[in-house]
Amino acid sequence: MVDLPDKRTKFIDWYLEVVEAANLSDKRYGVKGMNVWTAYGLKARRNLDAVLIREIEATGSEAVEFPALIPANEFAKEKEHIKGFDAQVYWVTKGGLSDLDIPLVLRPTSETAMYPTFALWVRSHRDLPLNVYQIVNTFRYETKTTRPFFRVREIHFFEEHTCQLDEAHATERVRSNLAAFRRMAEAFCLPYVSVRRPDWDKFAGAHYSIAFDIPVGEVRTLQIGSVHHYRDNFSEPYGIRYEAADGTQQLVHQTTFGLSERLLGAVVAVHGDAKGAVFPTAVAPFEVVVVPIPSSDTPGAAEAVARELTARLRAAGRRVYLDSGDERPGAKYYRWELHGVPLRLEVGKREAEAKSATAVDRLGRRSRVAFGTLETDITERLRDFDRALYEKALAAFRDSFAPAQSLDELARSDRVRVVAWCGAEECGHRIETSLDGSLLGIPEEELPLPLGPPGPCLGCGRTEGVRWALAARPL
Ligand SMILES: [Zn+2]
Repeated sequence: MVDLPDKRTKFIDWYLEVVEAANLSDKRYGVKGMNVWTAYGLKARRNLDAVLIREIEATGSEAVEFPALIPANEFAKEKEHIKGFDAQVYWVTKGGLSDLDIPLVLRPTSETAMYPTFALWVRSHRDLPLNVYQIVNTFRYETKTTRPFFRVREIHFFEEHTCQLDEAHATERVRSNLAAFRRMAEAFCLPYVSVRRPDWDKFAGAHYSIAFDIPVGEVRTLQIGSVHHYRDNFSEPYGIRYEAADGTQQLVHQTTFGLSERLLGAVVAVHGDAKGAVFPTAVAPFEVVVVPIPSSDTPGAAEAVARELTARLRAAGRRVYLDSGDERPGAKYYRWELHGVPLRLEVGKREAEAKSATAVDRLGRRSRVAFGTLETDITERLRDFDRALYEKALAAFRDSFAPAQSLDELARSDRVRVVAWCGAEECGHRIETSLDGSLLGIPEEELPLPLGPPGPCLGCGRTEGVRWALAARPL
């Protein structure tokens, strides 16, 4: 039995133990921050990726794959970008025994890998929009403490890069990405907030950045993705131009949309509880675990029924694990709860006679499932489980924010702070200093909280142009 630390008061300890006990990742590899994907963790990741692929392709994006190595001269072309990533890149400087003429960067993100090629692909306005994405590994030399899924040096990265006709079309693409992420997060039962980052905290080279944040206990937040509008900041140095309908040469406007395995970490962090991981159906490596309960007078009977139910569910496209090991049922229940399986089916003598199984979902709710309507009943139970999981997460999400009316109050509350901010950088930094954290920025949509109009700016006391902003200590 694993005795997990208290999630509320020892969040990070709890999280690390769940990741390890549920066997989602093995961090004992010989390079710090580069972890091994276990069979169980990889199943979850692939399910998660399938949702990202489905939703981004529904918006007209196509998969591509670019090389992992970027020539130093291409990497250095956009000044802000290189400044932002300089301290985080790994270099390849040798090929065999000889020094390379042009050193190569192991991609930390793929703007500088893709854009020289985009300049070749985009010729005319008929080539636009160009909407492509890739899911690849990227590398960043993290100096902060690494944590499985949250902060790693080899990142499993989803990145969409687009070229649009002009600034307005790029803005439209940003909106489309925000809507796509809303659908992805729904599949993961994750409440989150979209926040426009302040200028001093936007992506290196971006015109503006909108990030998705989730509260993860006390005053902590985790950024689980972001969308960026680049205007022509990259198309100018990389020469991505097209011939417009009127015959003039124009620079494209660009956007990107980035996600990573942090999303998987977020699923564990948000839904997990004192018994371990809890997976929403879309991500769960196994949606259902079937546990036969043998009886001494008819050995093998429960197992035969369990086998038949498993086969039927698999034929219906469900991911099912049949646990016919010789441990006692209680030990199996415990293990699969720790591993976060949404639904358990128990099949014993009583169930076999009544021709209905006992279903217990990961929130502890019991019901009966008649063999005759097995497939549709299971679909309904899983749908209901996801709904309840989302409601539970939403209640915790709502409870994670608290308005702070003064700089003094900022230092005291144990929630993510909602603060009145005039937008001035100086005031933002004052708020950050008082909290010893970051001003995340202004939410893109109304927060699910009973907030009136904001009072005077916490930094300067001005009342005009003041809006609600979020401040927290990002993980
Ligand atoms: Zn101010």
